[in-house]
Amino acid sequence: MTYSAVLSAAEPQIWCRDHRGRTYSFEDFLKLTESFHGYPAPGVVIGAKMVDMAMRQMTAGTLFDAVCETAKCLPDAVQLLTPCTLGNGWLQVVPLDRFAVTLFDKVHRNGIRVFIDPERLDAYPETRHWFFGIKPKRKDRTRELLGEIERAGENLFGVQSVHVWLEHAAKKPSEPRTVCPDCGESYPSRHGPSCLACQGKLSYYERG
Ligand code: ZN
Repeated sequence: MTYSAVLSAAEPQIWCRDHRGRTYSFEDFLKLTESFHGYPAPGVVIGAKMVDMAMRQMTAGTLFDAVCETAKCLPDAVQLLTPCTLGNGWLQVVPLDRFAVTLFDKVHRNGIRVFIDPERLDAYPETRHWFFGIKPKRKDRTRELLGEIERAGENLFGVQSVHVWLEHAAKKPSEPRTVCPDCGESYPSRHGPSCLACQGKLSYYERG
């Protein structure tokens, strides 16, 4: 038996770690994804490996912020494994719709960006099919897809060192606000004489 075989027999394979060092096996993280995200989404499970890789390349003890380049799945992996959430502003989404995550030092702004590298997907056909959103979706092959993701481990990703200049969401200066004459709610004055919803420029509902 090789040394690595002895090791893997002794302890279950680690899929990812959170910022406190808690470890998750692939199955454990799948269960966590199901309870947080609603179903065992492959994107969250892949995202966890990406966040784990980025975190391990950062100097221990570094206070970091996170950027996801898509709103789909990846932000949930960041929120499950790091102290960065959309609500506290330490996680931001830059809507590039690329499957990539960056963790960066809050002070020096140096970071690690991990992305799915299409060139590496050739050896993983189920993952390739899922990643490129090829229709029809093969819901009946989710097990095969998840198995492939587990086998691929870190092999799906490219890693880059980056310097981040994106402004921190919560550190943007607060701007003057006023009360909208039409709805009576407060909004940023620079939006005009009434709020964007009452101007009909940005809305998502009608009154029931
Ligand atoms: Zn209004």
